[in-house]
Amino acid sequence: MVKKKAVAIVIIIAAVFIAFLAYDGIANTEVESAFFSMHTHSNVKLKGAHSRKASEEIRELTDKLDTDILSRTSSSSVVYQLNNNGGGNAEKISSYLNILLDVCKKSDGAFDFTLGAVSDLWSFGSSPVLPDEAAISSALSHSGYEKLTLDGNNLVFGDKLSVIDFGAAGKGIALDEIKKILVERKIKEAVVSIGGSILLMGNKEFTVGIRNPEGNSGSYIAKLRIPEKCVSTSGSYEQQFEANGKKFHHILDPETGYPVNNGLLSVTIVSDSGILSDALSTACFVLGYEKGKALAETYGCGVIFVTEDKKVYAENGAENYIEITDNEYTLVVQ
Ligand code: ADP
Ligand code: MG
Repeated sequence: MVKKKAVAIVIIIAAVFIAFLAYDGIANTEVESAFFSMHTHSNVKLKGAHSRKASEEIRELTDKLDTDILSRTSSSSVVYQLNNNGGGNAEKISSYLNILLDVCKKSDGAFDFTLGAVSDLWSFGSSPVLPDEAAISSALSHSGYEKLTLDGNNLVFGDKLSVIDFGAAGKGIALDEIKKILVERKIKEAVVSIGGSILLMGNKEFTVGIRNPEGNSGSYIAKLRIPEKCVSTSGSYEQQFEANGKKFHHILDPETGYPVNNGLLSVTIVSDSGILSDALSTACFVLGYEKGKALAETYGCGVIFVTEDKKVYAENGAENYIEITDNEYTLVVQ
């Protein structure tokens, strides 16, 4: 009898303990998860009640954002439909389009999200190849953001063969959408990374590494100590391949259709906005140091350029929160 009672007590204690572990409502619950989403590796670290629920919602959101909205290949996506119909109802992406069209204009076309047909020729993301020159110039002739008109929610393609591509801004857009979930769920602290774009949320100072452009993904050349912000890096080390003894990467010069070759290895942007940090890191990479710095300034964003000759230029406030951690690299403050 006593034995039975003891077993029952143990079972009750175990059940309470398991329920306690499964309960997501505790103020300081910490949840960490890693998954593959938007064609890249994602990492979510959350602290606060309902972190587990929020983490699940984030995963669902990134998948849905890709499949239903931004994907170039999913036939149900808004972007796929627009590309296939030469424009149409763009209500679900019009707020993003307004921001990106502004970046296109202010970067003088260095950022251009109508390069989809050119990117396709390079097959970045699958098995990259060096395309035929004539094919590049033909695809290029159908690109150009000036050919697009956003009339309310209606996107009009001046050239029906233009192909819009959110590859340079999609991860930043995802971060802005994720932020809405975190705010709604009142998450205390969050670090969410999708590929080279990171969202930092919470009332504390965060440390973010600047990746070594010539090392593996776990090696860093500098660190940033910053409050809650979005940080995006565009680097020529991503999706790099070799053909005919030359190296090629996935950030294209919209004037030539070929990868930008201007002495930069990476550009990092620090901004309050995910979409801007992502788009501007690509734009500033294409523009190079002088013009890129001016563009980042226009948007009030910190910017860090890493060059092939191992110099690190930190501008628009970034000089105040960067610390070089690899002595092969030199910080240049103008
Ligand atoms: P990642 O995708 O590695 O984070 P980026 O944000 O810099 O890197 O985006 C690069 C992607 O953006 C390319 O794979 C291509 O789809 C697209 N792209 C390339 N060049 C440009 C450009 N000049 N303007 C806008 N989008 C571009
Ligand atoms: Mg980008």
